[in-house]
Amino acid sequence: MSSKTPVLFQIGWNACINCGACVAICPQEAGFISDFDTIAVDRPCDIACMLCEDICPVTTITHTEVHSAKAKK
Ligand code: SF4
Repeated sequence: MSSKTPVLFQIGWNACINCGACVAICPQEAGFISDFDTIAVDRPCDIACMLCEDICPVTTITHTEVHSAKAKK
């Protein structure tokens, strides 16, 4: 079980060259993808491996940590 904090990715759309590298390396299940064929930016990633950030050739992927409002019991 992962103890990592989920993250929400942001992509600089002006810099993205739509190479598809982030999606290709992503270990998330199929469908963690945006309308622009990049990794999803509309929902948190709970794996948070950051492989997409590392592989992006134009380093335009960033993230913020998502902290839930309530802790689970
Ligand atoms: S790896 Fe970077 S440049 Fe390539 S599609 Fe993803 S966000 Fe765009």
